[in-house]
Amino acid sequence: IANKIGWNFDNSYSRLPESMFTKLNPNPVRSPKLIILNHPLAVSLGLNENALQRDDAVAMLAGNQVPEGATPLAQAYAGHQFGHFNMLGDGRALLLGEQITPLGKRVDIQLKGSGRTPYSRRGDGRAALGPMLREYIISEAMHALGIATTRSLAVVTTGEAIIRETEQPGAILTRVAASHLRVGTFQYVSAWGTSQDLRTLADYTLERHYPEVANDENRYLSLLQEVIKRQAKLIAQWQLVGFIHGVMNTDNMTLSGETIDYGPCAFMDTYNPETVFSSIDMQGRYAYVNQPHIAAWNLARFAETLLPLLHDNREQAVQLAEDAISDFANMFRHHWLTGMRAKLGIFNEEPQDESLIEDLLKIMQKHRADYTNTFRALTLNKLEDADLFSTADFTQWNKQWQARLDRQQESEASSHQLMRSSNPAIIPRNYRVEEALEAAVEREDYRVMEKLLEVLSDPYAYSTEQEVYSTLPEEPTCPYRTFC
Ligand code: AMP
Ligand code: MG
Ligand code: MG
Repeated sequence: IANKIGWNFDNSYSRLPESMFTKLNPNPVRSPKLIILNHPLAVSLGLNENALQRDDAVAMLAGNQVPEGATPLAQAYAGHQFGHFNMLGDGRALLLGEQITPLGKRVDIQLKGSGRTPYSRRGDGRAALGPMLREYIISEAMHALGIATTRSLAVVTTGEAIIRETEQPGAILTRVAASHLRVGTFQYVSAWGTSQDLRTLADYTLERHYPEVANDENRYLSLLQEVIKRQAKLIAQWQLVGFIHGVMNTDNMTLSGETIDYGPCAFMDTYNPETVFSSIDMQGRYAYVNQPHIAAWNLARFAETLLPLLHDNREQAVQLAEDAISDFANMFRHHWLTGMRAKLGIFNEEPQDESLIEDLLKIMQKHRADYTNTFRALTLNKLEDADLFSTADFTQWNKQWQARLDRQQESEASSHQLMRSSNPAIIPRNYRVEEALEAAVEREDYRVMEKLLEVLSDPYAYSTEQEVYSTLPEEPTCPYRTFC
């Protein structure tokens, strides 16, 4: 038993209508090498962390061997990319199957970068080491921040070079997700499947992610409402930590409510609502400030696919969908306000809280304050840390804030505790991530990344070790650019 890896697959996706996927094996690679393995995640999945490092297991993580019980398949999906509807699908990924964890949870195990599929279009089906390590770092940082996300189990290099702007080492990421069901999955079935396929997909999604509403009178309306709820919470959490996804196409929005697709994402440093990092986002469609609106837009596309299931009468179906979508903004606002109050150590609600929060953000923007470090400094009461705190704007705001804190029952100490658990001491700073990736990719030195992952694994620790990671780069990497 000790030498068993611990795969425990049950592949419900492969039992869905055949038009929804293509079964195929990964393309073998030349010489797989394990670069990083997520030990705690492996254990929680019921996998043996030692066995996973053996050659036969690494061969599986590279796609050279198919684990027992796996049914590799590429999922078909569609999506609005920057507003334009396209047929997409897993062009460089394969779902190996669903691992049933020791706690009975069902999670997708996916290889990303595993070679061409029928959905590859002009792509090579491959991934480069830098971006796969980047996804590993940022997805694990998001998880540690308490934000729902796909996880990263491992990265292996393939021993093959791939061509991007320059030659890059090829790599494969093992991604773990509650599922890979996306808004785009529904768009695909809605556009090209039968009405029975659509019902099957909706029932499948309900069973997999929302079993508690699966017996509701109008379960498809419940599905829509629950997805909207989870996305409202998720996007609020992104905003609260300054996470900019960068490519919120409908194929990159999950039905589970997990963050997915860490291509061009990055954390905002200087507070500016218009911040965009992605080199291909010319119009700023996916700028920080737009993320809630885009989420609502994507959810409306999801709602459209459900119309035939919501009501026999089209007009009434549209009305139900519109009502559900219009709830998004309120739910988002509620989560965001609650989160912002917590960031400021506020427990109860007062009507003026909204303007107190907005005022601080305006001052931060005006004085080009760092988003994370401002809240960190407020938490630590280290008001000598940044120029912002010596401005008249801040001094005046601070008086109002202190008065607000004085008006609540809770002690100063509990306010401080609330702030500490709501304001991360560190985020994956862009220059730190770049530094880790450069060491890994250029020099095969993985220690910088491992150290970074370690401090990111407990972002609310406020350890002395984290202090150096909260400093800003000496030369601002401005404007920072990310690539898909
Ligand atoms: P993304 O921008 O990561 O959401 O990807 C959009 C689509 O492009 C998806 O269908 C991907 O599978 C596909 N894709 C991205 N990179 C590649 C690649 N190197 N080879 C084939 N397909 C790709
Ligand atoms: Mg994607
Ligand atoms: Mg991507």
